[in-house]
Amino acid sequence: MNPVIALVGRPNVGKSTLFNRLTRSRDALVADFPGLTRDRKYGNGALGDKTYTVIDTGGISGDEDGIDAAMAEQSLLAIDEADIVLFMVDARAGLIAADEAIANHLRVNQKKTWLVVNKTDGLEEHSAMADFWQLGLGDPHSIAAAHGRNVTALIDEVLAPF
Ligand code: GDP
Ligand code: MG
Repeated sequence: MNPVIALVGRPNVGKSTLFNRLTRSRDALVADFPGLTRDRKYGNGALGDKTYTVIDTGGISGDEDGIDAAMAEQSLLAIDEADIVLFMVDARAGLIAADEAIANHLRVNQKKTWLVVNKTDGLEEHSAMADFWQLGLGDPHSIAAAHGRNVTALIDEVLAPF
């Protein structure tokens, strides 16, 4: 069984951009699993001799009404199906309340969760990352999904235990 990586976070943080990059390899195939909601998109990728499956989700709004209400069902299902959760935030938007609401949910989840700060291209990395430590999800990992910056290194690290 491939390790399964779920991409979660607010809309517009770059989840689909990362999904496309991670599933671009020759063997990538966006799976059409019967019975699965179209709100979760599945793809396969490879790095070195390891293969993995990625799940893209439509996003979690992080609404003030409470994370249980706000969290889109497909994101919860994707987390359930995953071995690894990549929680994506947007360096350009900075840390916003919606990210904190999602982080509160993820902290109590049993899945191994990585905090991924996207869109750090053209930003001074150290200061771009500083705020995100507050989320309490450990070391923020800087990437630029659109340009591929640090993406291979991140996936290599994420897949190390598998
Ligand atoms: P999603 O809603 O989380 O799936 O986000 P998308 O992948 O659709 O990306 C939202 C927007 O952010 C698009 O305009 C992307 O081109 C842009 N974007 C994604 N990754 C990067 C990045 O690394 N750097 C910059 N500057 N923009 C990015
Ligand atoms: Mg998307």
